[in-house]
Amino acid sequence: MTALFQQLPAVDKLIKMPQGEQLIAEFGHSAVVAMCREVLMQARQSIQKNHQLPEYLNGIDRTFATLRSRLTQQNTVQIKTVHNLTGTILHTNLGRAIWSQAAQQAALSAMQGNVALEYDLEEGRRGHRDHHISALLSRLTGAEAACVVNNNAAAVLLMLATFAQGKEVVISRGELIEIGGAFRIPDIMAQAGCHLVEVGTTNRTHLKDYRQAINENTALLMKVHSSNYQILGFTSSVSEQELVALGREMNVPVVTDLGSGALINLAQYGLPQEPTVQEKLAQGVDLISFSGDKLLGGVQAGIIVGKKQWIAQLQAHPLKRVLRCDKVTLAGLEATLRLYLNPEKLTENLPTLYLLTQSLDELQDKAQRLKVRLEKRLNAQFDIQIEEAQAQIGSGSQPMARLPSLAVTIAEKTNSKLTALAERFKTLSQPIIGRMENGKLWLDVRSVATIEMLLQVVDEL
Ligand SMILES: *Cc1c(COP(=O)(O)O)cnc(C)c1O
Repeated sequence: MTALFQQLPAVDKLIKMPQGEQLIAEFGHSAVVAMCREVLMQARQSIQKNHQLPEYLNGIDRTFATLRSRLTQQNTVQIKTVHNLTGTILHTNLGRAIWSQAAQQAALSAMQGNVALEYDLEEGRRGHRDHHISALLSRLTGAEAACVVNNNAAAVLLMLATFAQGKEVVISRGELIEIGGAFRIPDIMAQAGCHLVEVGTTNRTHLKDYRQAINENTALLMKVHSSNYQILGFTSSVSEQELVALGREMNVPVVTDLGSGALINLAQYGLPQEPTVQEKLAQGVDLISFSGDKLLGGVQAGIIVGKKQWIAQLQAHPLKRVLRCDKVTLAGLEATLRLYLNPEKLTENLPTLYLLTQSLDELQDKAQRLKVRLEKRLNAQFDIQIEEAQAQIGSGSQPMARLPSLAVTIAEKTNSKLTALAERFKTLSQPIIGRMENGKLWLDVRSVATIEMLLQVVDEL
């Protein structure tokens, strides 16, 4: 074994060789030395265990190839772009909405230099970072003002902490939801220091339930969009309109966590309808919170719109400072919102809406191109077909609704392994993510934003 250890090159020797010097020129001295030590240590452990020199250090060329590949890997950003063929358009695990061109450009210029973030160019004095977005949202929704934070979970926390800390919040048992990533309404309430007062039952809540729960400690009446689940059958819930009337009578503000928060009526495109922010404002809700990267099709943010006096209190709360957005997010969000000023062009300009409104002809074209390319690459190893599929919006929008779609399906033949192929898809420079169902790999093309790039990646197979 000693003989084997002696075959391992010394770090000093490696870095003085021409190939070593080349690596240092590319990756830097510290990184190369650290990587040499790491690889040699692993080799020593491997020798101890297997009593032979590991394959990756067999010969000096192999050794340098190993070092180069590990150093390259170390410098590669691991948050990889992937191709979403899951059929879920707003997929939280895959980063939700794709940014529009306009948002990308705005974000890029914001990153590249200083911006007048909290500086009023006209007055030449300190301004407010949500100012432009607030004005835009007022124009788009009719709200008096807006406040922007990191995501909708933060928005809910901020609303509760600002108006209901140490006080009671009345909410229906049917709306005590958990959505992915450990967002649970009761937990957020606890974090905000509020007392949750549950009313009604899981399936039915009436106005009188809210009325009976109101006392001098009640700070808010709250509605939460049920998002990723639906209660069917013998159900009843109280509309915002009714709740607002009660709130006015008892002098308690009403807030709504709208979740996705559409700014346009999706029914005009023949899509399943989601309540819009405008609709809820028109019903008199005092504050509405929603996400920036769900149906809005923008960037990760939480937006709160409503009455000026309430928004001013949110802006003044210390938590707002903790939860505020950076210049890049605000630039991307502002650019996204400006697209809504030209609603006729939205299906073209906003990737989320484009994906949702693609015609079956477009989907057929994409599916056909993908099928041809896969057949070329996989020869006849697999059975490849185009089949009707059911896509979905995702991120808690209309969880039961399905959008007609097409998928390229791949089934294994006697000598091929589908699991191996799915694994291979994941190792591509931009991994392809589909879904397994009924023993086939389904590649739903409705969630594909960039077919050309996808086809190029298929060529790596
Ligand atoms: C998605 C969602 C949230 C959380 O929003 P994020 O932007 O992911 O923080 C909160 N409430 C509801 C009802 C939702 O649908």
